[in-house]
Amino acid sequence: MASSSSPPEEQYGTESTDNYETTCWGCGLRVMLPSGASIFKCGWCGAITNQNKKKREQKCFGWRVLRDRCFLSSVIIFMLFVIFGGVWAVYPIVFSISLLWGIFHSIITTILSIATVSFFSLAAFRCAGTPPNILWGSYPTVGQGDLENYTFCLYCSKPKSPRAHHCRSCGKCILDMDHHCPFIGNCVGAANHYSFVCFLISAVLSTIYVSIMSVYASLHIWPSLSYSLGRLKGMTGRDLAWRLMNEILIAFLRSTLFLSSRGLLLAYLFIASVSLQIGLSVLLWQQLSFIYQGKTYLSNLSSHADNEEEKKDCQNLVRFFGFQHPVSRFFSNFRVTQKRHDT
Ligand SMILES: [Zn+2]
Ligand SMILES: [Zn+2]
Ligand SMILES: [Zn+2]
Repeated sequence: MASSSSPPEEQYGTESTDNYETTCWGCGLRVMLPSGASIFKCGWCGAITNQNKKKREQKCFGWRVLRDRCFLSSVIIFMLFVIFGGVWAVYPIVFSISLLWGIFHSIITTILSIATVSFFSLAAFRCAGTPPNILWGSYPTVGQGDLENYTFCLYCSKPKSPRAHHCRSCGKCILDMDHHCPFIGNCVGAANHYSFVCFLISAVLSTIYVSIMSVYASLHIWPSLSYSLGRLKGMTGRDLAWRLMNEILIAFLRSTLFLSSRGLLLAYLFIASVSLQIGLSVLLWQQLSFIYQGKTYLSNLSSHADNEEEKKDCQNLVRFFGFQHPVSRFFSNFRVTQKRHDT
């Protein structure tokens, strides 16, 4: 990258005849560059210009929006199905055991459902993070170093901060972009990263609860297994164990034929919640480890290339979840507002 310095009135550069003149998109100052240098950093505002970069056609944008909407609708329908289906299948059984037991489970279901749906809505329907607006384009509006390491987003036609990435699915630049998640139909960035991780946590807890409750309720309504142990007479050791396992498995499969619709739904909820639990736990683990390392998914990809030093620290997690001195932070805010009123 050529670094060209161009303070307000004079220009630095080699006096070679091959030099060519161009302008910095950030401050509008003229810059003298050696021939062949197409990427340069302005010595005044710090903006990076890449003349090789051409705007690529926004292919499949409509298709991506459609895909996101389909995924988003399926996730919402599935969440509502699990909540209402689970209540329909489990609650008559729980309440038939004892009223207190039923009320206890109603409270847990309400908390988990509200938490999951609210965090999901915050992650999906909130803008993922708009980069701050910054003045650009002409000197002296742009001060020295005002656009340090900014690049120009050809799609949004405005400056892109070093912390922002352009998402081609959302069609805009996102601050601290982690990744584009088709299941929430939105990017995960500075404004909704917290909601996204909280959604993952409450979704994992909910799937654990659903799987436990579907097994618990199934045990009460599952048809009794019918098998005869007469055929096992005379068998010993491994043969006996193998035959016994076979008998139980066949009896179990036969019993599913006599399952009620409630039982079938419980079996489906168990399989669906366990598989989701595995997938969501892996995703949550990955997210928490990136936060612990002080990275996002995208910055992790680029730091592999740059070999940046990692700053692993539990404080990163504490800061992310906002546990750090919440009381003192409240008081400092309180003092500031008081001062404003006094003056
Ligand atoms: Zn400049
Ligand atoms: Zn952009
Ligand atoms: Zn996006």
